Amino acid sequence: MTRRSLLVVALKQAARSECRFRVGAVLAKGSRVLGQTPNRRRNAPWIDFRHATFHAEEALIRRFSAPHGAVLYVARLDRRDCPALARPCSRCQDALRAYGISVVHYTTAAGAETLSLACE
Ligand SMILES: [Zn+2]
Repeated sequence: MTRRSLLVVALKQAARSECRFRVGAVLAKGSRVLGQTPNRRRNAPWIDFRHATFHAEEALIRRFSAPHGAVLYVARLDRRDCPALARPCSRCQDALRAYGISVVHYTTAAGAETLSLACE
């Protein structure tokens, strides 16, 4: 599968999200999908507003392990069901780096971008 088709798989996960910001993440090695998940509710917003969701990247890390060379695809759908910017936040970037991911492809309103997380 191409980057585009794996981002489409991530968009389908985003469509399953019950969160206000709908994001999906797919873990793949080459063209093989190893895991996929939408972002998830963590607990009631009045308990902990700041951490009210597991970002899709966090949800994925919690459920799947990444073999060497695995790549992450992150996609977000806006309210009109159009792809939107899904660049991982700095906290997820740190978590992904520690988890062993060095390349993330993510959607933007214009298409897709690639983020390198390799250590400096
Ligand atoms: Zn994040």
